[in-house]
Amino acid sequence: MQISLVDLQAQYKSIRPQIDAAIERVLHDAHFILGEEVRRFEESFARYVGAADCVGVASGTAAIQLALLACGVGPGDEVITTSHTFIATVEAIWHVGARPVLVDIDPLTYTLDPSLVEVAITSRTRAILPVHLYGQPADLAPLLEIAQRHNLWLIEDAAQAHGAEYQGKRCGTIGHMACFSFYPGKNLGAYGDAGAVTGNDLSLLNKVRKLRDHGRTSKYEHDELGYGERLDSLQAAVLGAKLPFLESWTTARREIASGYRQLLGNTHLVLPYEAPDLRHVYHLFVTRTPHREALLAHLQKNDIQAGVHYPIPVHLQPVYRKLGYPEARLPETEQAAREVLSLPLYPELGSEQLEFIAHSIQEFEKKIGN
Ligand SMILES: *Cc1c(COP(=O)(O)O)cnc(C)c1O
Repeated sequence: MQISLVDLQAQYKSIRPQIDAAIERVLHDAHFILGEEVRRFEESFARYVGAADCVGVASGTAAIQLALLACGVGPGDEVITTSHTFIATVEAIWHVGARPVLVDIDPLTYTLDPSLVEVAITSRTRAILPVHLYGQPADLAPLLEIAQRHNLWLIEDAAQAHGAEYQGKRCGTIGHMACFSFYPGKNLGAYGDAGAVTGNDLSLLNKVRKLRDHGRTSKYEHDELGYGERLDSLQAAVLGAKLPFLESWTTARREIASGYRQLLGNTHLVLPYEAPDLRHVYHLFVTRTPHREALLAHLQKNDIQAGVHYPIPVHLQPVYRKLGYPEARLPETEQAAREVLSLPLYPELGSEQLEFIAHSIQEFEKKIGN
């Protein structure tokens, strides 16, 4: 048995008629940039999230960058975020000219530790950018309270959190804006790059809408320095065809996660912690173990593809050494980077495969005498 970390072919096979029809419709209409297809998806995704509106953009990275720009964040400003994330979170901050200020994580949830945020605030701080990592919302209530007290923007990196909920509200509506990625492997994935910004403040979202399309006020007039970061119609059509399935995929992800919990409860692996009063959507099922490298090798030998998200924290990446964070400065982040291990999880993963993975892990523990 061969098991991959994600299986996008299995998903396509299960919804092929809907996808093929959506793509054919765009080819037939021959309207490839923005237009009706994109607007329709924006409206349905806004409805799904419970936000006032949604602006489709070219990627999750573009979503973060344009959201920061719409808030007026730029050179001389600081943005507080996490180092335990995909590099794009920090890259977007850097690209608008602001300085990323990296704060350690809560080791249970792997998300920004709110108790460390306030001491990181300076007179230059303009925004807090929490990441809903692995599908679990960051602890937004204390972050919102801090943001309000210090008059800061709160922008959610919801790239891994489609449908995740915090105290009964979907991620994408809680901060001033939220940024989604529809990278193919995300919980809602396009067949290429795509992203979106959601929120309830229409004037901010309209700024994003203008920035994504060259600062255009009309066909030939541009009154602002903009970008070419539009969502294209083919991707919007694919996303629109997939959106009706997202809830059932999320349910399947959560069932697989609880299946893992039952099967792995008697092992030494640390299983994902679910904080109270939220809905984790399991973009990834991330365990941790001090024997990570050995377990990875063992699983690989059994044709099971596990992953590491992420092995090198952003502050220790060669490109961000210039930020000046020495090793051991963010101890929880660095320990997580050494120990986290993502097990295969996608909605189509069967119980037979799940049992095979669990068996292989138990075998490993016997082998190392655990
Ligand atoms: C995927 C991802 C991004 C970037 O999204 P792209 O669509 O790949 O540009 C940003 N932040 C996080 C946490 C992500 O997982």
